[in-house]
Amino acid sequence: MSAPNRKRPDIDPQIVALHDLQVQDRNLTILEHRLAGVPRRLEELDQDLAKLSEMLASERARLDETLAFKRSQEDQMAEEQRIVQESKAKLNQVQTTRELSALQRQIETTRRMAEARAQEIAKIDETVAAVEARIEEMDAALADLRAKAEAEKEKLLASQGTLEKKVARLRKKREALVAAVDPALLRVYDRIRKRHGGIAFAPASEERCLGCKMQVPHLIYAQLVKGTGIPHCEHCGRLLYWAGHFPEEAERRRQRQARRREALADAGRSEKT
Ligand SMILES: [Zn+2]
Repeated sequence: MSAPNRKRPDIDPQIVALHDLQVQDRNLTILEHRLAGVPRRLEELDQDLAKLSEMLASERARLDETLAFKRSQEDQMAEEQRIVQESKAKLNQVQTTRELSALQRQIETTRRMAEARAQEIAKIDETVAAVEARIEEMDAALADLRAKAEAEKEKLLASQGTLEKKVARLRKKREALVAAVDPALLRVYDRIRKRHGGIAFAPASEERCLGCKMQVPHLIYAQLVKGTGIPHCEHCGRLLYWAGHFPEEAERRRQRQARRREALADAGRSEKT
């Protein structure tokens, strides 16, 4: 199963088989993680839309309530104005000065009430205008969000299809790789993989486990370098192999670390300027 340049007649073939599986599982874990992220993001988008729609609906309800209140105020004002008119018509029918002043007082009181009502209605109109402006804004924001969400959903669903195909392909490939690993070793590997989020077979270099960065005892490290067995790391429990057995991988890791250091240095420099 392993590539010709990885054939190592001098080390335990189980190390090579498990390493092949680990490389593949690492890619599979990354893809599965991305795939699992798709429905989560879809749900997030729907929730954002629902939240904004809900806010919009409650603003609309508030507008309806305010308009209903305005109508009731207008009805009452019309009634007050009618009373004033009616009372004014009665003015020339009164018999005594006492009746006259009582009627005049009533007209004055009702007129003041109608006036206060008119001011109240003007205030309500201001509120209505503000709420209407807010609704218009939210309507535009909702349309904008909906368009963006639709575009993102389309992309997500397309990537979901691609990811599903890739994952299916890797799972199938995994079956072949698994067949080359001793079943007891595979059980241990799978158990550790679950516990450590994907990486169960870790390289050791310069007497350290690169999974947890802790020291590997000298005797175990010597065994790793010889390639005669697959011991556990005493600290993190991962299965170990010597990084030197897979020089291309060690080189890739070295390049990755160099890039990361460079990026960190760049970030440090741009922080200073
Ligand atoms: Zn470790």
